[in-house]
Amino acid sequence: MCDCSVGVSTMNKTFGVIVCPECKAAKAVDLTNDTTQCHDCGKRLVLEKMRIHYKTISQEEARWAIGRLNAEMRGGELPEKEDVDENDDPCVKASKEAVIADSERERLEIICRVLGEEMEQFTSADVKEVYSHLGKECEDMEKKLRRLEDVYEPKEGVFRSV
Ligand SMILES: [Zn+2]
Repeated sequence: MCDCSVGVSTMNKTFGVIVCPECKAAKAVDLTNDTTQCHDCGKRLVLEKMRIHYKTISQEEARWAIGRLNAEMRGGELPEKEDVDENDDPCVKASKEAVIADSERERLEIICRVLGEEMEQFTSADVKEVYSHLGKECEDMEKKLRRLEDVYEPKEGVFRSV
């Protein structure tokens, strides 16, 4: 066995899971780099422009995410990107997924994940809209959004999920 496993504590690498736009293969990349080359088709990928489907410091978790993405793309439950129903409003979709949440935190996490998948970035107004679909209200929503681990706020009131 090779002894070169990543020492998370010292190296602090963050892995991102991306899908190569050229050959549609999911792969893990080291997000400290600016670019990477696809192992499968050789295309040069600029990470800044890529959609990061999953972010983790664990190589194992990245591998799991790749497997999941590949399975989804092979025509599992998710439809092909091309025939996504345009009427499928992200807020409606998020509210459908968020009904299973049994805590506010979980609800917000699900909403942010779905909105993050559907849109590049979203605002607290989008989250509020999801809440209105759910028939619920959320106090101090922005504060709660900021406390979520997988959500960051690049601009005041604008959120992205990783
Ligand atoms: Zn490729």
